[in-house]
Amino acid sequence: MELETTQHIKQSISVALVPTPGMGHVIPLVELAKRLVLQHNFHVTFIIPNDGSPMQPRKQVLESLPPTSISTIFLPPVSFDDLPDHEDVSIEVRITLTLTRSLSALRETLNNLTTDQSTRLVALVVDLFGLEAFTVAREFGVPLYVFFSTTAMDLSLVFHLPELDHKFTCDFKDLPEPVQLPGCVPICGPDLEDCLQERNNETYQSIIHLAKQYPLAAGILVNSFMDLEPGAFKALMKSRESSFRLPPVYPVGPLILTGSINESDRTDCLKWLDDQPNGSVLFVCFGSGGSLSQKQLNELALGLEMSGQRFLWVVKCPDEKATNATYFGVHGMKEDNPFDYLPKGFLDRTKGVGLVVPSWAPQIQVLSHGSTGGFLSHCGWNSVLESIVHGVPIIAWPLYAEQKMNAVLLTDDLKVARRVKVNEDGLVGREEVATYARGLIQGEDGKLLRDKMRVLKDAAANALSPDGFSTKSLANVAQKWKNLENDTN
Ligand code: UDP
Repeated sequence: MELETTQHIKQSISVALVPTPGMGHVIPLVELAKRLVLQHNFHVTFIIPNDGSPMQPRKQVLESLPPTSISTIFLPPVSFDDLPDHEDVSIEVRITLTLTRSLSALRETLNNLTTDQSTRLVALVVDLFGLEAFTVAREFGVPLYVFFSTTAMDLSLVFHLPELDHKFTCDFKDLPEPVQLPGCVPICGPDLEDCLQERNNETYQSIIHLAKQYPLAAGILVNSFMDLEPGAFKALMKSRESSFRLPPVYPVGPLILTGSINESDRTDCLKWLDDQPNGSVLFVCFGSGGSLSQKQLNELALGLEMSGQRFLWVVKCPDEKATNATYFGVHGMKEDNPFDYLPKGFLDRTKGVGLVVPSWAPQIQVLSHGSTGGFLSHCGWNSVLESIVHGVPIIAWPLYAEQKMNAVLLTDDLKVARRVKVNEDGLVGREEVATYARGLIQGEDGKLLRDKMRVLKDAAANALSPDGFSTKSLANVAQKWKNLENDTN
C-alpha cells in the first residue's frame, strides 16, 4: 500500500483525526487540530480516507495549517465500481462506505503510529460518520472519540433514533406528531434528516446502524456551544446520570475556519463589497454542494432582481438533485459555466446592484465584511456557525442532510432567521424571494433578527474566550487524554 505523507514532526502525545469526505467535515476538524496543537501541545495526525473525488480542495485547507506538529496521511482511494448504480448512491452511504472500505488502510496506519516509539497515540477522533472505526481503535487500545460537526439537537436525535425506529412503523415523513427531543423545540417528521425520511432504503438502515454504535464512543465533542443550545446540551449531559447512559458530551464550538480558503477569489468579490454601503448586501450561497433545479434558479434570480436589494450570489450549475459532486470538494474543477443557466439579460439588468460569482466565494471573509447585511443560506452547520460568529441574520433555505433541522433551530428556537416557504410546485417563488430579501436587509423584521443575532455573536465569542465554556470543555478532554498518557508511563 502506498501512502502519501507530508510533514511528520512528532511530539510525545499525539491524537489522530479522521475526517470523512466532504469539505464541511474537514474544515471544523482543521480548526480543532489548531487548538489541540496551540493550546494543548498535542501532535496531530490527520488520516484522510479518499472516496476518489479530487483531493486538491482538502489538501489546500490542510496545507494552510502550521507546518510543525501537524502531519497528514492520505489513505489510498476506495472504489465504488462494484455497486450497481454507484453514481446514484446517497452522500451518506458514499461517505460511510468510504470509511468502511478504508479500514484496513486505517489499521495499517494506526499500527505504524502506535509502534512509533517517539510518540504516544492517546485518541482517535472520527467525525459523525466514523463510528465504524471503533473496532480498529479497540485493536490498538486507543479510545475512540467523535467530533460531531453539527448540532446538539441532531446528536440527541442520533441517540434517540433506535428508540424512534422501534416506536414508529410509518416513514418519518408521515409521523403523526412532531418529535420532541429533550430540551429541544419540537421537530415535524418532514424536517428530520433527509436520509431518515423513508424507512425502506439502504441509507435509512445504514444511519440506524451507525446510531446504534454511538454509545461505544469514549466521548463526543460537539461543534456547538452551551449558550446556543442550552436545553439540548443540559439534557444530553443529564442523561448520563440516568439509566439512558451516553458517552460524555463536550460542547467545543463554534469552530470555524480562520483565514481564507481561496485567495484568488478574494480580490474581486471582496473589493466589490468594499464599495457597497454598510449592511446593505444579501449574500446568497448554498454551501459546497447545494444545487437548485433550473426552474428554481430562475425564480431565485428573478426574485433577487425584483427585490432591488444589493446581493452577492455564488451561483452553481443547476441540478435536479439538491446536492451534486461539488459536495465532495470538486469546486474549481472544470465544469459548465453556471452563468449560462441564468435568465436571459439577468447579468446586464442587475449590474451594479448585484455581483454573481461562479461556484465558490471566500464565505467567511464575505460574512465578516461590514457591507454584508444578511445571508440566504442552505443552513449547512458550518455556514450557520460562520453567520452566528459574524452576527449576520439568515434567510433559511434548507436543501438536504440535517439542514431542515438546523432551520428549525434557527427560526423556532433562536429566532435569528426566517425560513422560506416552498409552494405547491415545490418552488420558492420570485415574489417570495423578493419579499424575504427586502425584509431581511431593510425591514423591521430584519432588524429584530439582526439584534438577536448580535446577542448570539457575543455568546459565541464568549464560549471561546479563555474562560469560556467551550474552551474549558476542550481543556477537559485534553486533560483526560494527557492523563491516559501518564497512566501508561
Ligand atoms: N464555503 C465557502 N465558499 C462557498 C461555499 C462554501 O467558503 O462558496 C465554505 C463555507 O464557508 C463552509 C463550508 O464551505 O465552511 C460549507 O459547509 P456547510 O456545513 O455550511 O455546508 P456543506 O457544504 O457541508 O453542505
